Amino acid sequence: MRSRREILQYTGAALAALPFAKAFAQASKPEAKSPGGPIVVSTWNFGVQANDAAWKFLGHGGRALDAVIAGVAVPEADPKNQSVGLGGLPDRDGHVTLDACVMDENGNAGSVACVEHIVHVAALARKVMENTPHVMLVGEGALQFALANGFQKENLLTPESEKAWREWLKTAQYRPVANVENHDTIGMVALDAAGNLSGTCTTSGMAYKMRGRVGDSPLIGAGLFVDNEVGAATSTGLGEEVIKIVGSHLVVEQMRLGKSPEEACRIAVERIVKKHPQKREDLQVGFLALNKQGEHGAYCIQKGFQYAVRSDSVNALIDGKSHFA
Ligand code: ASP
Repeated sequence: MRSRREILQYTGAALAALPFAKAFAQASKPEAKSPGGPIVVSTWNFGVQANDAAWKFLGHGGRALDAVIAGVAVPEADPKNQSVGLGGLPDRDGHVTLDACVMDENGNAGSVACVEHIVHVAALARKVMENTPHVMLVGEGALQFALANGFQKENLLTPESEKAWREWLKTAQYRPVANVENHDTIGMVALDAAGNLSGTCTTSGMAYKMRGRVGDSPLIGAGLFVDNEVGAATSTGLGEEVIKIVGSHLVVEQMRLGKSPEEACRIAVERIVKKHPQKREDLQVGFLALNKQGEHGAYCIQKGFQYAVRSDSVNALIDGKSHFA
């Protein structure tokens, strides 16, 4: 993983050393209708690589929806990432079950929850959005739909994740731990050159969860919300707390009232903190938001949440501000 400094150096050096490439990029770039776009933001440090994949679309005038699905496909396919897609940590019975959702610029939504054996569940959620009259498919039905639509059935439990689960079984304590090494879920939202917003959120959920548990990530309004007139938001952390405040919808509605993305995320975090005023090691939630102007911001309960930003001028990993130091 590149450090923030390396990323910034890399971006600067690449542009300075390749003036012809820059000139080409400028010449071939479509005219942006949005003053702040194109831009993509995503949760955690693995968002850097995911943003790179999304940028292949956004940087060439592509649609935000295509960009976010391509972006999150990177951590979904990475067996070393134990919180998203292939290699995700299983539930307490040893099953890897994935959750994902997507929203586009027209307010369309698709979602899948508790899906087994399918790696690219964000793309599957998009299929639900585009090819069915429904918003959400779960479990066996979602798997059946995936197989009928050409998705491959795979074993998602890697030897590493199985080993970690077997180790966990020795004590079998279900205690979510909030720290930077235990980060979960990629939420990604983007604004394209045409000024349109889309987003997606995909995860294997809390490690060693109860069988059948579904978190915030596939729930429209909780783990993700996109309103093309206002902005988009996504979340990560303890999903149960996000669901109970319909977090991402709250963030977007605060931006509608004129709050900056960071301020909107802070308001959502404070709603949760108000219910749990004491600092708890096991309680982390982070919100990430992008508005229609391409401004972004994040806020989390406690230190450790980072988000990745990619635009024409920025390629960075940023520390989200936190309620507790
Ligand atoms: N929000 C996810 C869930 O509750 C996990 C996470 O982002 O930490 O399933």
